[in-house]
Amino acid sequence: MTEWDRSRIRELERRLRAFRDTCRATTLAEVQHATRSPFHVLVSCIVSLRTKDAVTREASGRLLAMAPDPAALAALEEDAIARAIYPAGFYNTKARQLRRIGAILAAEHGGAVPADREALLALPGVGRKTANLVLGLGFGIPAICVDTHVHRISNRLGLVATRTPEATERALEAVLPRDLWIDINDLLVTFGQNRCHPTSPRCSGCPLDDLCPRRGVTRFR
Ligand code: SF4
Repeated sequence: MTEWDRSRIRELERRLRAFRDTCRATTLAEVQHATRSPFHVLVSCIVSLRTKDAVTREASGRLLAMAPDPAALAALEEDAIARAIYPAGFYNTKARQLRRIGAILAAEHGGAVPADREALLALPGVGRKTANLVLGLGFGIPAICVDTHVHRISNRLGLVATRTPEATERALEAVLPRDLWIDINDLLVTFGQNRCHPTSPRCSGCPLDDLCPRRGVTRFR
């Protein structure tokens, strides 16, 4: 289906890495580098859903300073969690979910985050995207986290031709070398936030211009 052979994918990777080096690191990449903690990655990822990166950085930092482990998180009142993560999107819902996550991890997983997709998916507010991010960034287990940026840009590039994030995940597993599965999320999120925007990508001068068929792109700058 795709004309993306291995050497073209490596060229894509090289350019995406060079581009990322020119940008500020995402909050989740910073959390991973600073802590190597699955719990910190999980909490930051929940806070980040439907939330701007700058808000996620401040909000998850405040909460993790108050609750550095699951038991401490479970011991907080929901109101206190909500105040800590405000103005993250859906802060009241996330506060309820985070408190329950802390309680479940403390009671059922020995106070640790499980390195298991099914166990992660059983936690409140944790979908496939978050579970895969925790597996990858938290544990170094190869998993492709497909968020809106990964789904959109993979289709524009013609790496995949899919309608849903779940289908994109399966298609990317078939086309990407395994050593890229974890990092592709951060590479494409950074690229999506700074160049290949949802509604009007900045195609003029794009470093991927000669690699990109711009599939589905009707308006660009
Ligand atoms: S050429 Fe345009 S559509 Fe393709 S990756 Fe660059 S910004 Fe995105």
